[in-house]
Amino acid sequence: MPKRNDLEQKALHYVVGTGYQGVLQSDLWRELGASSREGSRVSIKLEEKGLIRREKELQEGRWTYRLYPKRLPASIETIVDCPCLLCPDNARCDPTTALSPKSCPKLTDWILNLGKPPAQASIGLEGSSALSPDPSIQEDDSVAESLDT
Ligand code: SF4
Repeated sequence: MPKRNDLEQKALHYVVGTGYQGVLQSDLWRELGASSREGSRVSIKLEEKGLIRREKELQEGRWTYRLYPKRLPASIETIVDCPCLLCPDNARCDPTTALSPKSCPKLTDWILNLGKPPAQASIGLEGSSALSPDPSIQEDDSVAESLDT
């Protein structure tokens, strides 16, 4: 059993490393030196545990699976433009007071624009409102979906 767990760990680590691109199941097993039968069993196990997502894909006339991580580790790049980091009100901001992240338009705008390309995300945060987001901006659920468990 520890051998299979090792393989599961290595496979999961590799799949997580491929990020949003994912990896073909066959490429993964080649990379880990496992047989396709063994690899198939491990990928099903990881999917059952909710750690990866498998999507059918046609490759050179044969059906295979592309494996995607369900969760990606957070990186500093994901929060580097969070308005709270340079906010002059940061020290006074508290969820129990009137100046709260629960009602902050700058934070709400930033959250609503997560996962959108920079050109689509709103640049100026002044005058924006958390209660009336721009209806011309469509929500992108791809990030949320990939982070779902
Ligand atoms: S939630 Fe808003 S007010 Fe509070 S620190 Fe962040 S940007 Fe500033």
